[in-house]
Amino acid sequence: MSVPFDTVNILNVPFIKTTNAGFVQQLQTDILAHRNRFVVTANPEILMYAREHPNYQQVLTQADYITPDGIGVIQGAQILGTPLPERITGYDTLLTLLEWGSQQHQRIFLLGAKPAVLKQVTTIVQRDYPGIVVAGARDGYYDDEQTVVDQIVAAQPDMVFVATGFPKQEFFIAEHRQRLDALWMGVGGSFDVIAGAVKRAPLFWQKHHVEWLYRLIQEPSRFKRMLVLPRYLRLVKKIARQQAH
Ligand code: UDP
Repeated sequence: MSVPFDTVNILNVPFIKTTNAGFVQQLQTDILAHRNRFVVTANPEILMYAREHPNYQQVLTQADYITPDGIGVIQGAQILGTPLPERITGYDTLLTLLEWGSQQHQRIFLLGAKPAVLKQVTTIVQRDYPGIVVAGARDGYYDDEQTVVDQIVAAQPDMVFVATGFPKQEFFIAEHRQRLDALWMGVGGSFDVIAGAVKRAPLFWQKHHVEWLYRLIQEPSRFKRMLVLPRYLRLVKKIARQQAH
């Protein structure tokens, strides 16, 4: 990583040690300078997936900034005795960049989600962030990846938001980012949240660190995915004990 931040290592993944404000400020500098940047917002699920999939781990090493998305990462850092200041989620970063991008008349490309969701997101972004230029948009259920990349390059966006979920979005960005100097960021299910298809937990749940429980109640099909959390915490605790010896 070409990092202007200190990092904290959790399961061999270096997380930037900064605040939301510090991170966004750095991104704004990068974007205005047209630097090629790859952002991963990682949670415990991603960390555990990377352990079992070396090709994904390899992709993570190519990211410029990896942020702690998910309370599990903050807890992990605490357990290891190297605390991180706060969560930096893909969703919050996306909204902050849209707000700033609107003032700066930045160009964006939206890639991901189902066609109807994407259409709604495009409308909402144009309505709520009128200064933004939506240079292009494409749903996440494409067959021909090359055509999608050509479409992005032709649109010449300053920021490319890829909302096709992990690991697909990170593989896509790592493979194609060299075609265009822009900010490339995976934002997972954020388009569904913007379109209102999935609700983000109210502040109360977020503040009490149970956003994951709220999401589980909304989407019970996520249960299997969440089973990875206790396994992750056990692993981090084991590493912390080994380090103590
Ligand atoms: N998605 C997509 N293309 C695919 C698979 C998924 O665009 O081939 C979209 C899906 O519609 C949803 C998002 O990717 O909007 C995945 O959301 P999820 O919350 O599962 O992602 P996470 O935040 O866990 O990475």
